[in-house]
Amino acid sequence: MKVAVAGAGIGGLSIALMLHARGMEVEIWEAAADIRPLGSGLMLMPQAVQELTELGVGAELAGLGVDIAALCYFNRYGQQIWRDPRGLSAGGMAPQYAINRGPLQLLLYRLAQARLGAHAIHSGHAFESFEPEDRGVYIRLRNPVTRALTETKADVLIGADGIFSAVRSFMYPIKDELRFSGRMQWRGVTECEPLLDGSSAIMAGTRRQKFSCFPVSGCGRQDGRQLLSWSAELLTGGAIPPKAEWNRRVDKSALLRAFADWKWDWLDVPALIDGTPDVLEFPVVDRDPLPRWSFGPVTLLGDAAHPIYPTGNSGAAQAILDARYLADCLQSCADPVDALREYEAERIPDTTALLLRHRMYGPEQVLHLAEQRAPGGFDARLQAPEQDELQRATRRFKEVAGIYPKSNPAN
Ligand SMILES: Cc1cc2nc3c(=O)[nH]c(=O)nc-3n(C[C@H](O)[C@H](O)[C@H](O)COP(=O)(O)OP(=O)(O)OC[C@H]3O[C@@H](n4cnc5c(N)ncnc54)[C@H](O)[C@@H]3O)c2cc1C
Repeated sequence: MKVAVAGAGIGGLSIALMLHARGMEVEIWEAAADIRPLGSGLMLMPQAVQELTELGVGAELAGLGVDIAALCYFNRYGQQIWRDPRGLSAGGMAPQYAINRGPLQLLLYRLAQARLGAHAIHSGHAFESFEPEDRGVYIRLRNPVTRALTETKADVLIGADGIFSAVRSFMYPIKDELRFSGRMQWRGVTECEPLLDGSSAIMAGTRRQKFSCFPVSGCGRQDGRQLLSWSAELLTGGAIPPKAEWNRRVDKSALLRAFADWKWDWLDVPALIDGTPDVLEFPVVDRDPLPRWSFGPVTLLGDAAHPIYPTGNSGAAQAILDARYLADCLQSCADPVDALREYEAERIPDTTALLLRHRMYGPEQVLHLAEQRAPGGFDARLQAPEQDELQRATRRFKEVAGIYPKSNPAN
């Protein structure tokens, strides 16, 4: 079977490597002229780490990422609400890694070059259109700069071309616009002293104003410093998303004003923002869940299929889980069209649940409960919510996000 993959992001590279491991012929078509290490930090949930480990990159991942032992929630006054263990510390089968998107993509890209052969990866080729044929699919791609046209054929086409997917808009040309949450997110990566114990992620604030960060390089450096990936969020309102681009650099002065008094004895938020060389802005957007991802021999994967708010940093992990399931279906079903139907029957319900839970504030429920209980901070009278209550509020989110296996009764 010959499979064409549109997009060499984390989802596209993962599915290409998994199909190659199952003996299929794969070609990747990427719009960008070259693969550059872009983006800030993301979370690889334990289930996704297991999948990449099966591809043979477990040791490289351990070297690139930070093994996250807990997600610690704080209120807006820097008081700890809850410490929720993660990965191996939570008794899981695999670690949860915090990792920078760029080095992760480069790791998978180099592996794909080595295993598939450089001739199988075509950069500077943006998907333009497809036509299903009696057997397989006819595909047109165009160079974004020279406008040169390339035509190719495959048995299956997988659209792994991200939140602005051209494959998806070819399938759904109308009524599939970006949905704006009314929240803006700013992101950055900066060097600093180790945060807390050096292996915790933190989320602080309220639903209206939030600051999250996690280390993306260990404290093993000689100077003892860490690379920290952070994101700040503000409820700004408005129905129409402002310009959505992953790499939009912005002036940080308005952000510094909004977080001016977020200074605690364990973290100085304005100093962290101020010390960050490049601050990127991205509106918190998604798209409505789709009723189907597959039309004949063509399907969608990753952000192209289910763009989810970036607030949970879980897009990469979900793309890897899609890839595993799709690779298994294509291997086990005799008819590729049946395989794509089987794939979406399994993955649409889970990713839709995750997308909707992000809209319902997912893990931020913890911040909300604490704010309701003690809006001005905790004292002898006003206590943080009980652990059981917080577990219940986040349990389903953690299951669908792949943080814990669905059937694990211990969580
Ligand atoms: C430049 C960039 C920076 C990002 N930074 C962050 C971040 O800081 N934090 C975060 O949580 N998420 C970030 N993301 C999103 C994150 O990578 C995804 O949520 C997640 O990894 C799922 O990946 P994906 O492979 O589905 O999509 P993506 O990672 O978006 O990859 C899609 C790929 O398809 C390519 N492509 C686009 N259009 C076409 C086309 N017409 N034909 C062929 N190829 C095409 C893109 O160039 C890209 O390489 C970023 C994505 C990009 C592209």
